[in-house]
Amino acid sequence: MDQTEIDALRARPVGPFDHLIDGRHVTASDGGRMDILSPIDGTVLTTTAAGTAADMEAAIASARAAFEDGRWAGQPPAARKKVLMKWADLIDANALELAVLGVRDNGTEISMALKAEPGSAAATIRYYAEALDKLYGEIAATPRDVLGMIHKEPVGVVGAIIPWNFPMMIGAWKLGPALAMGNSVVLKPSETASLSLMRMAELALEAGLPPGVLNAVTGAGAVVGEAMGLSMDVDVLVFTGSGATGRRLMEYAARSNMKRVYLELGGKSPNIVFADAPNLDEAAKVAASGIFRNAGQVCVAGSRLLVEASIHDEFVSAVAKATEAMRVGDPLRMDTFIGAVNSEAQLNANLGFVETAASEGGQVITGGGRILEDTGGYYMAPTIVTSVTRDATLSQKEVFGPVLGVTPFDTEEEAISLANSTVYGLAGAAWTANLGRAHRMVRAVRTGVMHINTYGGADGTVPLGGVGQSGNGSDKSLHAIEKYVNLKTAWIKL
Ligand code: NAD
Repeated sequence: MDQTEIDALRARPVGPFDHLIDGRHVTASDGGRMDILSPIDGTVLTTTAAGTAADMEAAIASARAAFEDGRWAGQPPAARKKVLMKWADLIDANALELAVLGVRDNGTEISMALKAEPGSAAATIRYYAEALDKLYGEIAATPRDVLGMIHKEPVGVVGAIIPWNFPMMIGAWKLGPALAMGNSVVLKPSETASLSLMRMAELALEAGLPPGVLNAVTGAGAVVGEAMGLSMDVDVLVFTGSGATGRRLMEYAARSNMKRVYLELGGKSPNIVFADAPNLDEAAKVAASGIFRNAGQVCVAGSRLLVEASIHDEFVSAVAKATEAMRVGDPLRMDTFIGAVNSEAQLNANLGFVETAASEGGQVITGGGRILEDTGGYYMAPTIVTSVTRDATLSQKEVFGPVLGVTPFDTEEEAISLANSTVYGLAGAAWTANLGRAHRMVRAVRTGVMHINTYGGADGTVPLGGVGQSGNGSDKSLHAIEKYVNLKTAWIKL
């Protein structure tokens, strides 16, 4: 990608952005605006509408009306497929513009954003567009005088609440299957990273998605997100974000219409390196990139490095060396490996975790502090803390920043026990050349995804979902579709 094109796009004025309701740009009902800060330099980039509960209710009403009159759900599958394919094409055609816009309010390094954001969003939407006319109902094994049919029907109105780390990618994980199945959607992007997702929603309308089928409302989670959670007219709520918010959404559902709630939450994912790993140099490099890309703001990041004691010192030195070679800085430079932390609040929280780790006996062997402060942006040196014990805060709590905790182990049993010693279960990895051990680790470590001799990179053909307090249900793959359909039985006396 050409740096000059990126530089031209970064110089463009941005926004202001309003809600997208019923196919129109709409300001907040009380005229409220929110400043959007750029994590690159801490300046005000633009503003978005600061939504009110009334705005959210208007968006939900629009989605409901669109669903009930069948303007989307009632279209033939081939017609829905055509619109979604066109949308994916438009995302691809605008990929660089979308990626740069996204980086300007979320801070992800552009080299990663280009792949993980528009590229992956378009691929996801295409995947579900291709699938939508290949899904069948079922006929049950009934006595001959009865026909038992199982229909898969759209659920109606889907509320989708998205975090700031990969807004387009995660947005598409929800929008692709939800829209493919004929639902209407109300989208609530993160307050600190909404711009690229709002633009992506506009492109859906350009592609021919009828007005009201996809609405997007910006604003504070505690205002518009809460209004969505408490709505009596949202049928399914899909969420990616923190456990604290996920817990609230379950409460909202219980206090309102008992809507189905699917949560993709955080993790404290163990990356387990055995002395018999096939390539320890490769394992060290991947251990570093598996936690530090996007400044650690990756739900599946390998934030706990468990290393067999016999290779601990040598391996940790190799990880530190790989880490120190990573270029941290301006996320809009193609040669930047780690961009900005999304917000000052997140940066301060990360620094707090390092302080706590040190006070609990951890040794900070590289990084540990804020850097490039003169830019006004929110940058942190990738940080490795060794001697982290099983019960230490750094072993138990998700940082969601560029902080890696390292713990040694002696046996496979101890590695498994350490791996399973948190409330989370999102991802993990084991590095070993022993085939039996590799499969034992896949079975024994309680996670939604277990990597062997690699970290990350699982594509859209496989599900991503957590166990324990990492969530329920799955994004990606055909399994994600289950969240967006109701099963209806027809029991027919013949
Ligand atoms: P967050 O929970 O603070 O915010 C997520 C979304 O929830 C935002 O849109 C926010 O506005 C909204 N929200 C906040 N309060 C709300 C409320 N009271 N009611 C309704 N909505 C509300 O999370 P975040 O800081 O944006 O994201 C980071 C978290 O997301 C991390 O824990 C990370 O691990 C997790 N994550 C998980 C996955 C996954 O697939 N499992 C992927 C990416 C991120």
